[in-house]
Amino acid sequence: MGNSSCCSCLKPKATLQCGICDDSVCKECAQFLGEDSFSFLKEIPKNLSHSTYCYNCFDRDVAAELAAYEKDMKKAEGIMIFEKAQSKETRNFRRHERPYQIPECADREEALLRLAFMAVRDGFNALIDVEITSRKIRNGTYQTSVYSGTGMPARVNANSRWK
Ligand SMILES: [Zn+2]
Ligand SMILES: [Zn+2]
Repeated sequence: MGNSSCCSCLKPKATLQCGICDDSVCKECAQFLGEDSFSFLKEIPKNLSHSTYCYNCFDRDVAAELAAYEKDMKKAEGIMIFEKAQSKETRNFRRHERPYQIPECADREEALLRLAFMAVRDGFNALIDVEITSRKIRNGTYQTSVYSGTGMPARVNANSRWK
């Protein structure tokens, strides 16, 4: 390290290293991945968990996954959500799936989005029986809330969409 040349542009003294192939790569050529880039995945594959990549490895292993992830995130934001209290509207929906559960997170929106993202990844377009609960925790000197939730994935015909 330090004396190696960049595997992309061949300039000497490349100071970074690709997380996959371990080749040296310079700052200009390196592809960076933010820490929370794939944070909604249930399990983050090893190849997607590095912070620095050379161009080839990023292109081969990360770029398409990242694009798909972002696309699914957009879909998740638009998914139909029915809370448990709306059981009147959803009573005829098929309930054949097991409800999702998410780990505790910092706010209600994130909890919802995490459930929605799981549904999208599994090929559904709606969440029903959604229930988000919060509990207070002490964080040093102040109190804050954490949120957890459950929801069941469902396929809802867009034509019969309830408004
Ligand atoms: Zn370079
Ligand atoms: Zn590489």
